Amino acid sequence: MSTFAVTGGPCATYDPSSGAWLRFDGFVVSDGRIASLDLREAGRDIPVVDLDGRALYPAFADCHVHLTDTGLFLGPYDFSAVRDAASYARQIAALPRGAFVVGGNYDESHWDDGGSASAAPIDAHHPDAIAMLARVDGHSCVLNRKALAFADLPPELPGIERDVDGTPTGRLFLEANWRAQSAILGALPAEAKRAADRRATQTALREGALHLHVQLVGLGSHDAYRAEIAALRDAGAAKWHPKICEREPAFARDLGLPYVGGDVFLDGSIGSGTAAVSEPYHDRDGCGHLMHGDDEVERYFADAEALGISAGVHAIGDRAIEQCIAAWERVLGGRPSPRNRHFIEHFEIATPAQIARCAHLGIFLSMQPQFDAYWGFPGGMYDVRLGAPRARTMNALASAKRAGATLVGGDDSPVCRLSPLDGMRAACAHHNADERLDVEDALLMYTYDAARFGHAEARTGRLAPGLAADFVVLDGDPIAQRTFEGVRVAQTWSDGTCVAELR
Ligand SMILES: [Zn+2]
Repeated sequence: MSTFAVTGGPCATYDPSSGAWLRFDGFVVSDGRIASLDLREAGRDIPVVDLDGRALYPAFADCHVHLTDTGLFLGPYDFSAVRDAASYARQIAALPRGAFVVGGNYDESHWDDGGSASAAPIDAHHPDAIAMLARVDGHSCVLNRKALAFADLPPELPGIERDVDGTPTGRLFLEANWRAQSAILGALPAEAKRAADRRATQTALREGALHLHVQLVGLGSHDAYRAEIAALRDAGAAKWHPKICEREPAFARDLGLPYVGGDVFLDGSIGSGTAAVSEPYHDRDGCGHLMHGDDEVERYFADAEALGISAGVHAIGDRAIEQCIAAWERVLGGRPSPRNRHFIEHFEIATPAQIARCAHLGIFLSMQPQFDAYWGFPGGMYDVRLGAPRARTMNALASAKRAGATLVGGDDSPVCRLSPLDGMRAACAHHNADERLDVEDALLMYTYDAARFGHAEARTGRLAPGLAADFVVLDGDPIAQRTFEGVRVAQTWSDGTCVAELR
């Protein structure tokens, strides 16, 4: 079926020349590309794909996904539904035995009993495995004794929690957390990782997320990054945007990638109390940590700008965001880059002045609207950690849009569900009504602007003649209904081929 018409339901696409969303009745596909948006050019007797009244939109992107972790933490290994220490222990007891037991997504901020994830049940039920559970944000983890011995952390490393006798509890934060996770995930048999990649890709495609911006973090050697990128080809029929999370623009250029960075951490996370904030935390001492000196950040940005590679960092707290923006202002001389699309991941606690400076510099803001749904409500984790007045200002989607910044959307999966529609729903239902996006701007974050983020807008991200026939078929029509409530992905298409279908 190299040429066919799609018809029978409302179609929508963003049109950059008018800055509006166009509505049309169908289109013609030829050899995987859109041939025409005018059905009269279809010719007689060509095959027809009938939408049967369902709506059609450009395929979605997820601009921040940890693919292997997403796959590892699906099913019985997903601890996100745990609400107390007892159910945490029960779920650990039920995990299949093996040489490695790896799970994650626990989030004590949702626990009803004020308890915390401990190593005791892991040691009790899986004493012979190298066993690790990672917190939902990845910024802390719990290891059993065998895994601690395997990780072989230097005792002076920051972040090793100890009991009153000085014995490690198994709970790790900061540098100790990252070292342990990369040691254990790095030691997983390759086939376990590849199977996880395939599970995660299937999940993504069923959710309409065709374009996957995969964060590749802490792999160590260049060969390991090359191998991971090569392995994506076998993970499934997604369109891949690998993001090397290292301060190495030259390596990204050698690999032919348009961007570099992403989870290059300028700070930690709010849940773990390690995001770098200017005002102290509400429920603990300190203002978090900056992980790099200003000089290091500036050198990284200057290298990227000179090489024509777009560079990003992970910056959550306003102190980390300030470090990032100030470095860009020095590197770019206060003007937007003429060719690069530099970016900040997360951008959770930003002042209005910082938002305006990002808009002025043309820095893309790669944000996760679901964070607000998970933690932004009154009494939620943001309130507890940071106090309500500051929490009200966070994940300021509509402020950023009004300031003229470009927003792109991700889930930071497995932190949040890998579901662009969940992200769009959250963007339109922000707990602070002043920060809600309208339906069109939410769609833009996951379609056309996401394609620009991936330097792919000449190929995909909207529906127009000459571009790839990459689209989703939806039950429900968000623009017509003015909401994403009740909208569901029915099919995902890539280059004119259906790659996932929900029956
Ligand atoms: Zn991430």
